[in-house]
Amino acid sequence: MSATERNIEERGERKSLNFIEQIIEEHNKSERFNQKVHTRFPPEPNGYLHIGHAKSICLNFGLANKYNGKCNLRFDDTNPATEDVEYVDSIREDVHWLGFDWQDREFYASDYFGQLYDFACSLIKKGLAYVDDQPSDEIARQKGTPTQPGTESPFRSRTPEENLDLFERMKNGEFAEGSKILRAKIDMSSPNMHMRDPAIYRIRKTPHHRTGGAWNIYPMYDFAHGLSDSIEGITHSICTLEFEVHRPLYEWINNQLVDHKPQQIEFARLNLSYTVMSKRKLKELVEGKYVKGWDDPRMPTICGLRRRGYTPESIRNFSERIGVARRDGIIDLALLEHSIREDLNRRASRVMSVLDPLKVTLVNYPENYSEEVKAINNPEDPEAGTRNVTFTHELYIEREDFMENPPKKFFRLSPGGMVRLKYAYIIKCLDVVKDDHGNIIELKCEYIPESKSGNDTSNIKVKGTLHWVSIAHSQQIEVRIYDRLFMDEEPDGHKDKDFKDFLNPESLKILKNCFLEQSVNTVDLKQRFQFERKGYFCHDKDSSVSNPVFNLTVPLRDSWAKISGNVN
Ligand code: ATP
Ligand code: MG
Repeated sequence: MSATERNIEERGERKSLNFIEQIIEEHNKSERFNQKVHTRFPPEPNGYLHIGHAKSICLNFGLANKYNGKCNLRFDDTNPATEDVEYVDSIREDVHWLGFDWQDREFYASDYFGQLYDFACSLIKKGLAYVDDQPSDEIARQKGTPTQPGTESPFRSRTPEENLDLFERMKNGEFAEGSKILRAKIDMSSPNMHMRDPAIYRIRKTPHHRTGGAWNIYPMYDFAHGLSDSIEGITHSICTLEFEVHRPLYEWINNQLVDHKPQQIEFARLNLSYTVMSKRKLKELVEGKYVKGWDDPRMPTICGLRRRGYTPESIRNFSERIGVARRDGIIDLALLEHSIREDLNRRASRVMSVLDPLKVTLVNYPENYSEEVKAINNPEDPEAGTRNVTFTHELYIEREDFMENPPKKFFRLSPGGMVRLKYAYIIKCLDVVKDDHGNIIELKCEYIPESKSGNDTSNIKVKGTLHWVSIAHSQQIEVRIYDRLFMDEEPDGHKDKDFKDFLNPESLKILKNCFLEQSVNTVDLKQRFQFERKGYFCHDKDSSVSNPVFNLTVPLRDSWAKISGNVN
């Protein structure tokens, strides 16, 4: 390790601890968990993972790594109606892609159905659970309000024997869905509504994606979660803030039934501006065909971000950068975009591509001649080297880089004006060719032979540098330009409006007439590029050799025009 690296590492260690790390270190001091740190990431397989889950994954696996501990992947699959193996597979893929590994610790809450059933029977035997025959609306009515105590159910005094018998028959499928429910017997006047005899088992006759028709009853989240944590030896059960009010119930259940009692810790969920994050809403976008699937590059899903060209490193850095908070807030989407821009700036090869072509003919450049100019692959990475780009008498430039009647500070091309073509020559616009409708279809220009980049003896100063491609030495590509999916900062934050009312109609533009320099190998789909002056792009999965398709990952913040003629 070099001195600099050691320095950085020491500085990292001294970085102040976040509040979860502080709790862990206190536990380590007090020997609460014998210095062990064992976390879990517990997705419900009812949808694809999104950037909020990525935050939770980075946090749970990150803490395990930091404290030499372990992190389990646990599918919290207690609701057969909404869950599916398609989601299980995608979750596995996404966690791995983010760079984390659960080794042989892939667990399912459904694996514990037998144990959880036995735990429920133990509660019944202790007189701490009962079968309630009332309909759910009646039970809800009896819950009371936060300021008014609830009413005890007439079935609350059933004997353990009767409850055991009924519970077993619920399991055996003797009763209809909704006709009976198992409730914990806690306190109907507790100030915490979750402690007012919460439901812990309900009847569901839907087959489960893993246990099939074996069970007619399923445990509720609050009952299954803490016990699953205990079964797996989890030490720190990290969840989002809305579970804070469930913590007394989490602890009550474990206190009645198990010796190993994990610590639940809550942190603020990630909210991103211009984004909806709930799986239910994302599913609505997919099923309503507002987007083209879970992995549509405009989606905040991990698979969508992956297809958009995000790297795992950029998402991990983003997660680290935003930290963990104890109070809800909204993170600016620009911060996520900053993370990927920063990463791609280091690793993406620069290439030239014209997305809205305007033909330029160099009238004084020989027609059957061409030359190779040297282009830098990545100014941030000297080892990336250079490549040759072919220059000829017929080129494309970007249509927006020409103006017939330019305003004063327009440093790009205009009639009589001069610009440098990057890595090549200075050119001067002599004439504008139009079609019958007055549309500009071509520029006639001349090139200045003495102005070749690297060997410029022309003494001409120009303020603009443009990217270009040779018409004969470029390949036609399709480019998909993405913008934010929603036009409102908080699309699901309006009481009287549906989040879909804020969808951005311009979130996808497909450009089919784009041209990319020939040097780019369109077979290697893993490469990422900076299309100079435009942004970062990657191959889309629809890409093929005959129809290369590129996605805009993120635009560049600045264009060369702003920093004028000093780049050539
Ligand atoms: P959603 O509300 O989007 O459907 P969820 O919480 O129901 O999400 P789960 O599959 O139950 O989704 O979540 C798995 C884990 O990911 C949980 O520990 C949950 O707290 C965490 N998680 C979910 N959304 C976020 C978020 N936006 N920020 C941080 N963690 C999250
Ligand atoms: Mg959930």
